[in-house]
Amino acid sequence: MVARDDSETVGAFSITTVVVAPPWYENCYLVKHLPTGNQLVIDPGGDAEEILTAIEANGGGATEILLTHGHPDHLGAAHEIQVALGIGCRAHQEERPIIDGVANWAGALMQRRIRGPEPITYYAGEPLLDFEGFGARVLFTPGHTPGGVCYLFDGFAFTGDTLFNQGVGRTDLPGGDGRTLSGSITRLLKELEPRTRLYSGHGPAWSAAEARPWWERAASYGYF
Ligand SMILES: [Zn+2]
Ligand SMILES: [Zn+2]
Repeated sequence: MVARDDSETVGAFSITTVVVAPPWYENCYLVKHLPTGNQLVIDPGGDAEEILTAIEANGGGATEILLTHGHPDHLGAAHEIQVALGIGCRAHQEERPIIDGVANWAGALMQRRIRGPEPITYYAGEPLLDFEGFGARVLFTPGHTPGGVCYLFDGFAFTGDTLFNQGVGRTDLPGGDGRTLSGSITRLLKELEPRTRLYSGHGPAWSAAEARPWWERAASYGYF
């Protein structure tokens, strides 16, 4: 097990990165709204115990789980965390087929049985999610998967496997599409203020100011 617990403060929030579970070293994030103590869990893949320990170390309790998409390495621990904390889980409705298939996927890819999140609330479009004392905007960014999203907060965003620090998500998995992903990334980067900190599904954080010129270059080479 590999754990990297980094915490950063952006405005009224602390963002803690919890990395567990080889082989993909996906990032699970804890978002804590400091004035209210409300805490969200983004993409709990990997080891539920490890993530629950990090939640406890961060003051305990969580309001809800948000999924950027439905791949097993991003939701494998969701059900156990839901049972432990009695919390809900939200994802985009276009991602439902991916999430419904997660047990089969996990069996084939990870030699591991995974129980999908339950209960799960599917939202449509690009809602503004309202939490106690703060909100998050959903940006629909399909391409890596059919229902992939980014979550935009005040000063930071979670980009899942849509956009990494100098990289983009795979498009060769079921429901993936390169042109769609390219369009999603272009739109995402137009929406963000330059100072926005970007936390992705794998690897280190960066900023919209760093991502924009990188993406313009990458797109102009025609790789994507
Ligand atoms: Zn993925
Ligand atoms: Zn991933």
